[in-house]
Amino acid sequence: MALHFRKPQNTLEFGGRTAYEAQGDASEPVRKCPNCHKEIPVSVLQENEQVCPCGHHFRLRARTRLRLLLDKDSFWELYGNLISENPLGFEGYDEKLEKVRTATGEAEAVVTGIGRIKGISAAVFAMDSYFMMGSMGSIVGEKITRLFEYAVRQHLPVIGFTASGGARMQEGLLSLMQMAKTSAAVKWHSDAGLLYITILTDPTTGGVTASFAMEGDVILAEPDALVGFAGARVIEQTTRKRLPQGFQRADFLLEHGFCDAIMDRREQREGLAQILAIHGYRAGTEELAEGK
Ligand SMILES: [Zn+2]
Repeated sequence: MALHFRKPQNTLEFGGRTAYEAQGDASEPVRKCPNCHKEIPVSVLQENEQVCPCGHHFRLRARTRLRLLLDKDSFWELYGNLISENPLGFEGYDEKLEKVRTATGEAEAVVTGIGRIKGISAAVFAMDSYFMMGSMGSIVGEKITRLFEYAVRQHLPVIGFTASGGARMQEGLLSLMQMAKTSAAVKWHSDAGLLYITILTDPTTGGVTASFAMEGDVILAEPDALVGFAGARVIEQTTRKRLPQGFQRADFLLEHGFCDAIMDRREQREGLAQILAIHGYRAGTEELAEGK
């Protein structure tokens, strides 16, 4: 089975080494942590799945997440050939897509496929906040919908990492209808008695929060992830009320019943395998077949 992860495309995936080398810094490259403000060697971050010793979770690219989660060589990408067009003829959208595709090495803001977690087969998706802020256009919605449909046919659980700025405004209403479309697919999967787990990562907002991100049977969040519908500033301006400390952060979510647990990234592989096992999913050796 072919491994579809690409080689590191940019400075984000493997800790910024390329950028620092480009600056002519031959010593150990570092990344400044926005939480503890310390400069952390990238080798330390790399060994800790891009988590700072203070606990801050740096954002991850979609393929990095899947690589950290899945058994080695077990990922099979599905629907990677689907590419956004510019259905409304929105000015500048074609150019923007072209630019972001080149910059990220991705065709769209979500990577979908199948793989194994400690031997247990699952359909998986990971959104990429570096691709137009993980915004949901027609293709993001279509890939996620098809993945759920595939999972129903193959009796697979779905595990998804969400990260999104919301609907993709360049696709207008076509973008908004993806909320209903993906939700219908989640319901179909649920009616088939299959498990769906979401991991809300920083940031998960807008139409993605209002649809498949919050529809998991089990909803996990990464520490301190920002999760909400409208932004805090918009809410404050509209309601003319000051928002409480930590509003829309993972702890706040847990306290108010919007997620089931906060799970450190370094515990996710083990934790997700356990949740799958509790729900009766077992490790298997059958070949994972490519979907249509
Ligand atoms: Zn830190």
